[in-house]
Parts: sequence; structure tokens; C-alpha cells
Amino acid sequence: MNNNWDLTRIFKNEKEFKNTILEVNSLLDKIIKYKGKILENNKSLLEVLCLNEKIELLTERVYVYSLLGYYDNMGNTTFQEYKEESLNLLNKVSSITSFITPELLSSDYKLINTYINENKELEKYKLSLEKIFHYKEHVLSFSEEKILSDMSDLFRVPENTFEAIDNVDIRLGKIKDENGKNVELTNSNYTRFLMSKNRNVRKNAFKKMYKYFENHINTLSSLYIGNVKNNVFLSKTRKYKSSLDMELFSDNVSEKFYDKLIEITNKNTKYLKEYYKLKSKSLGYKMHMYDLYVNSSVMPDKKISYEEAIKIVNKALKPLGEDYLNNFNNLLNSGVVDVYPKDKKRSGAYEWGTYGILPYVSLNYENNVDSVSTFAHEMGHAMHSFYSDNNQDYLYSRYPIFLAEIASTVNEILLSEYLYNNSESKDEKEYYLIEFLDKFKATVYRQVMFAEFESSIHRKCENNISLTMDLLCDEYLKLNKKHFSPVIKVDEAIKYEWARIPHFYNSFYVYKYATGFISALIIADNLLKDNNFKYKYIKFLSSGNIKYPLDLLKDLNIDLENENTLNRAFEIFKKKINDLKELEKE
Ligand SMILES: [Zn+2]
Repeated sequence: MNNNWDLTRIFKNEKEFKNTILEVNSLLDKIIKYKGKILENNKSLLEVLCLNEKIELLTERVYVYSLLGYYDNMGNTTFQEYKEESLNLLNKVSSITSFITPELLSSDYKLINTYINENKELEKYKLSLEKIFHYKEHVLSFSEEKILSDMSDLFRVPENTFEAIDNVDIRLGKIKDENGKNVELTNSNYTRFLMSKNRNVRKNAFKKMYKYFENHINTLSSLYIGNVKNNVFLSKTRKYKSSLDMELFSDNVSEKFYDKLIEITNKNTKYLKEYYKLKSKSLGYKMHMYDLYVNSSVMPDKKISYEEAIKIVNKALKPLGEDYLNNFNNLLNSGVVDVYPKDKKRSGAYEWGTYGILPYVSLNYENNVDSVSTFAHEMGHAMHSFYSDNNQDYLYSRYPIFLAEIASTVNEILLSEYLYNNSESKDEKEYYLIEFLDKFKATVYRQVMFAEFESSIHRKCENNISLTMDLLCDEYLKLNKKHFSPVIKVDEAIKYEWARIPHFYNSFYVYKYATGFISALIIADNLLKDNNFKYKYIKFLSSGNIKYPLDLLKDLNIDLENENTLNRAFEIFKKKINDLKELEKE
């Protein structure tokens, strides 16, 4: 087994890479000739769609190849150059092919339908054309679109300014660490201090953090209000029902569903409080907001080699069946994983790839339980890509972001269940339970609280209530009290927390973390209880984006729009709390 990537699976050598760029350029010369003529007849429509598909696929290959090579060794100047070249190509492609969508949308879908009936070869593009026409009523005239597109840099000012503050300008000041040493507090070491066993360290880090945000709260409020107003303006201009409706549109998700998710989560905050009651009891005092992350699980101190990890994960994923495991092990034997840390390799773990070629997974494997879990997670992504690539045309192979974390989380949960059931010590069992409960809290409760903040603020703006710094902070404090009070003392300073959440500049995105986790939880539960569920699940993994996300989940009998489905996830959370209670009695 090869533990390093083999990029020649994409291009054999430099010549093939360069030739592909030349090929894309010559295809671009061809496609541009169709400008103004796409809809002349069914043949020209077909030609443009074929050319465009080819251009996209080859450009993706060039881009993925150059970036993977660069990530593998960020000091490699050849791949740095390739990366620049492929970015230039990407920009060129998107600029030259930008005429296609508006030209299609300038017509009526009836005409497209006629062409599809005339020419069977167009059948394959039907679904993707329907998806383009889904937007028709929200696309403006050519000159209006031009104005909006010329203004796009202006719309990004709030986000860019926030990033500049949050990544560059920010100076949180110094605090004393556990050893009494003065250290600079930063965004990245903050969580570590909040997990400190020393309560004073936690408290001081918390205070220092929010003092900074209090001092800059007027600036940050103004930025966020700018962002909200942009969304409201764009959604009105594009004739959406609301800014929320605009963001949910691409996944065909309704506002009603978004609100239902919030409503059900709020109804179930009782379990979150129960969890913190248990935690308070073990700490022996009433918790404050700076105590939320303490007493988190301590990873079992055991060494697990990569070879052992493969064996463990194979056992844990048994409920997925033979077909899954055969393909899983084939991928490993094909050297898709770059396993160990090495000099100038990109940090973290991820999965990526290009259609028709086995995926690439990067780990920085460290012989511990955490690394095994990361391995299972990333392989979940890889298997989703593998199944979708093998069963769908390029056009429909890429699964949407809404579904992207499901397959990886299913694997993580199955692994955690397996390790829990096979662990010998109480401490180890406790670790897996607390890991699970903390992840549920962070991915479901916390993200839904964020989602509620976003929709509430946008709706106020849409109802002409003037947004102010006080209003933002009050709203955020109110939500925190709803989630944590009275079990936890909700410190007033938490009302500034919203101002440090980067995701709020990617509006109405975070709810997908919650829906992804909830779906994965139910899938894993079904897999463990029903021996036949795996066949449905593999079909789901094979479906790419041939339907909208909620419909693909419905094919698994998981109807997220039904509140019983959502409640089921919270019941699982509750069951784990009970398991933890039982364990602590022992
Ligand atoms: Zn992931």
C-alpha cells in the first residue's frame, strides 16, 4: 500500500497538463462563436452544452491537479506556477462562458423543451437546464444585471472589512496562562484557554476576549448591519420573498422548514440544560459561560497505528455492508490517502478530487484516537464522491453542500459507537459519550441558535425596524438565555459574541451544519437497527445532485420537514445523556 499521493492518476506528466490547458483554450475559441446563437436550433444548443461540459471538466482537472500538487508540498515552485496558471484559466473560462446562462434565460423554457423533444441527445441536459430555469423569475434585465455585477465588490465590503479586523488588525492583549506566564490571547488559542482546568485562566480569557469586542462593537455592528442591508436589498431587487428565501432558494428549501428547525430545537433546549446540569454537578459549582468548554473529554491515551486504524474502521463500518467495505478497501489499496505529516504539507485533513478519477484524501495521521476518527470522517467524503462519480454523469455527480457532511459524519458516529461498545474502561466510555454530546451541542444547538439570530435580525430589517448595536446585542443575549438559563449563569459579556462569528458574513449557511448532523445521526441509527437500510444508503451516496437535497433524503425515508424526524435526533441526544448518567453512577 502506498501512503503517498499519486498525481499521475490525473496527468501523466507536465506535457499532459499543458496540453489540457491548450485544449481548454481551443474549446473556448469554439464556444464563443455561439454567442447570440445558442437558441438558433436544437443542434447549436446541444453543441454549446457539450462544449461547456467538456470545458468545465477539463478545467476542473487542471485546477485540482495543480492545487493538490501544491498542497502536497507548499514549497514546490513548479506547482506554485501551475496553481497560478490554473487560476488564470479558471477566470478566463468563467468570463468567456458567462454569456450562456443569461442567453438561455432570455428565452422561454417551452422552446428548450421543444428542442429536447426534437433531439434525444439533449435529454441528458434536461435536469441541469431545469435547474437554470428555476432562477428565471429572479434574473433581471441585461443592463440591471450588469449594474449588480459591477457593484459586486461593493457588496463585499462588510465581509472583507470584518476579515481584515478579525485576521489582521485584531489585538486581544495578554493574559496569564496556567503557569502564570503572560501570553498573547489570539482567536486561535482562545478555545484552548476556555478548556483550561484553571478557572481563573478561563475567566480571564473570556473577559479579555469580550472586552476587545465591547471596545469595537460600534464598528462591528455597523459592518454587520451593512451586510444585512445588502442581503435585504439584493433579495428585494431580485424579487425574492425575503433575504432568507433568497439564500434557501438554491437548495429548494422553504422558510417554513428553516423556522421549524429553530422551533423544534428551542423546544428541546431542556436536554441541553440537562446536560449542563450534569456537568455542573461534576464540577461542583454553578457554571458560567466561560465554563462551557471545560471538563470536555480527555482523549484516551492509547497509540493506534494507521494499519490498526484501518482494521478498526473496517469493523466499525460493518453495518454499511460488503459492497461499501470492498470499495473502501480498494480505495485504500489504490493509494488515495496521503497519510502522515511531512515537511511543507498542508495542515489539517480533507478530501478532494475530480470527476472520473479516484478521490484524494489527505491526513496528518498522529497515532491517536482522534486521528482514527478523522480518517473515518475523510473516507466518508471519499466514498460519497466515489459512489456519485461512478453512478452519475459529470453534470450530476457533485453532491450539494447541504448533504456534504452527512457521509463523513455517519462514519464518525459508527466508529464512535463501535469504540464505545468495545472499550474496557469507564473513562474511555465517558470520553466517547462526552465527545458525542459536545459535538451535538456545537453542531446542532449552537448552529441553530446562530441561524435564529440571523433570521431574526434580517426580518427586523425587512420590517423596517432600524437596526442598532443595542438591538443586535440584546437579541443575542436573549437567545443565549433561552439556551442556557437558569442552569448556567449567562454572563452579560456574551452579548458581544455574535460580533466575532465569521460565518455571519456567509448568511443563512450555518443551519446546514445542524441538518447535516441530524440526518447523519438518523442514518447511523437506522444502519445499526435495520440490516436492509444500507442498500438505500448506498443508493443515496450514488445520487450526486440528481434531486434537491431534501428529496434525496426523503428517498431514504428521512423527511426532515416532519417534526418527528427532527425530534428523533434530540431523543438520541437525550439517550446519550442517560447513558452518561448511568456510567457516572457506577
Ligand atoms: Zn468533513
